[in-house]
Amino acid sequence: MRHFAHFIGGKTRNAGSSRRLDVFDPATARTYATVDDGDAADVGAAVDAAAGAFPDWAAQPNDQRARWLERLADALEARTDDFAHAEARDGGKPFALARDVEIPRAVANLRFFAHAATQFSSESHHGQAGLNYTLRTPLGVVGTISPWNLPLYLFTWKIAPALAAGNTVVAKPSEVTPATATLLGELAAEIGFPAGALNIVHGRGAEVGEAIVAHPGIRAISFTGSTAVGRRIAGIAGPLLKKLSLELGGKNPTLVFADGDWRAHLDTLVRSAFQNSGQICLCGSRVLVERRIYNAFREAFVEAALALRVGDPMDSDARLGPLVSQAHFDKVLAAIARARDEGATVLCGGEALQRPGWFVAPTVIEGLGPDCATNREEIFGPVATLQPFDDDAQALALANAGDYGLAASVWTRDLDRAHRLAAGLRAGIVWINTWLMRDLRTPFGGMGQSGMGREGGLEAMRFFTEPKNVGIRIEMR
Ligand code: NAP
Repeated sequence: MRHFAHFIGGKTRNAGSSRRLDVFDPATARTYATVDDGDAADVGAAVDAAAGAFPDWAAQPNDQRARWLERLADALEARTDDFAHAEARDGGKPFALARDVEIPRAVANLRFFAHAATQFSSESHHGQAGLNYTLRTPLGVVGTISPWNLPLYLFTWKIAPALAAGNTVVAKPSEVTPATATLLGELAAEIGFPAGALNIVHGRGAEVGEAIVAHPGIRAISFTGSTAVGRRIAGIAGPLLKKLSLELGGKNPTLVFADGDWRAHLDTLVRSAFQNSGQICLCGSRVLVERRIYNAFREAFVEAALALRVGDPMDSDARLGPLVSQAHFDKVLAAIARARDEGATVLCGGEALQRPGWFVAPTVIEGLGPDCATNREEIFGPVATLQPFDDDAQALALANAGDYGLAASVWTRDLDRAHRLAAGLRAGIVWINTWLMRDLRTPFGGMGQSGMGREGGLEAMRFFTEPKNVGIRIEMR
């Protein structure tokens, strides 16, 4: 059986305790591999390796670091199918989605931040007070903690800017999906990536994750995951005064207006609710529909949801795979049961598929208002609710109800309305007549319970560097 081990100091290394955890194939619910169940001692070894590598890595000219990231990107791209296969097995996402979208996006992350390393610059201020310029230096050893839903994409989204800015990294992927991060470590070793610059420690969040957050040698934490864990991490990192970036959960609204060509966009609207079985933080799980078109929209949306083929990740016709784990499967089914208890009408789905593995049918729910738990709490599964609205003000109030503020999409032909709503929506990202349109230069992140700080583009480079102001007196004659 395959085993996923830590990657420390440029080498594969087993957990000091020799403890292992099972890794499951969500399409069969069977164990297919094991992963190191690391602990604080393993984290300590990784921090030592990263600290040892830091002076040389930080001293490399930017274009050298860029070249290393490019080489890693090239090696990953050449192995796209293998990585996509690993991701499909590990997380249950359709192979085609992993091959065509997620692994290429991981490659793009590495390339983008390779370029950023050579393009990043700092400010200078010239004026009455003389000349001030800003030095931006790497922080040292940084920790990254990423979730299971987009395993390699979010892993590279963090390590790439950290490395590009000259830091060395101790990274923890989710214990639920350790495969592709491990493979990336192996690729790094194959291409001779400087040992110790990237270190990967596997294990449970409560043990390895917290050891990373608490380790005094780690200067900053970049975390993506649930709001509950983000809060816990903030509680540990706050008193230590560590730099913190938190990308957390969402409960994103999709605002569909009668004037838009919603039928032409139906495929994207359905995708925005159900892609990756709804296990994307940016999925639109609350669909708000102008009352004039509500009935027609509901009929078309439900028909399209029913047409989504749910199946084995390796089946090229499958649009949705299983949920990632038994625990998550139970959580999603419990959320559907709670919606029924709250008085919801389940228009389609609402149950598990009768087959091995953790498959849940795409589920559309109506009849619940903005205050119920179903419309307030993140479900993170193939579950979307429909709510009607009468005018812009009501649409905005429904969209902004709740504590999250990650993303929103607005579907209208009325430009004034689109811009007005974009300004009024409480969300870090607003898409107009599109969804998941990504440009890696843009600031990425959420408001309220969706997080703190921004990633993406130069925001990430700034996060991973310390600014220092240098002021020079200039004699004015
Ligand atoms: P999670 O349970 O919060 O876990 C995320 C990561 O944190 C995993 O690596 C996990 O390790 C680790 N972890 C768990 N407990 C920890 C602790 N006490 N201290 C330090 N680390 C700890 O989230 P998830 O269920 O994997 O991912 C789904 C969540 O991520 C959803 O809420 C989703 O909205 C959010 N998300 C947000 C974004 C965004 O950009 N805003 C993007 C993607 C996902 P183990 O898994 O090994 O326990």
